[in-house]
Amino acid sequence: MLFSILSRSACANCKFCCSFRRQSLWETPLFSLEVVEKLNHPNEYGIMGEFAAAETPQGPCAGRLILEDKYRTDDPEEEVPCTFLDPQKGCILKGEDKPFDCSIWPLRVMRKEGELVIALTPTCPAIGVAPSSKLSELVKSGLGEKILEYAQVHPYIVKEYREGFPVLM
Ligand code: SF4
Repeated sequence: MLFSILSRSACANCKFCCSFRRQSLWETPLFSLEVVEKLNHPNEYGIMGEFAAAETPQGPCAGRLILEDKYRTDDPEEEVPCTFLDPQKGCILKGEDKPFDCSIWPLRVMRKEGELVIALTPTCPAIGVAPSSKLSELVKSGLGEKILEYAQVHPYIVKEYREGFPVLM
């Protein structure tokens, strides 16, 4: 969704958002229950994921990829890749199976003081800590509305607001 400002090659070479330190596990992408059903059985990708039910105020409505048992050291900086990340090719999932969270990263839908906002994750190496005017414009000229509409139907993608995440809308 952000390819007008984030090139596919930059993302393919980076893969930062597809690996997780323990402290970043809250950002592990959430999969719809239909996709979980597909990916935790033998499937076209040849890789099965392990998922935990993600609880929301509306009840379990998504699956969170379990990566906790993949760490090999006690180093808090150790990063574990997403089960569906191929080190050479990048994400192996087709668009329809890829979590919405992943398709909008580094944007996030967050709840701030009771309101839904679109915020920027300030750790994306390609975008940086502050939103550019081009990114703000992209969000305000339709993309933000589209993301908020999706969040209304799929409330499990909403994260609680965290300090340091610039709000774009
Ligand atoms: S599902 Fe794909 S895009 Fe999302 S974190 Fe995993 S490898 Fe990356």
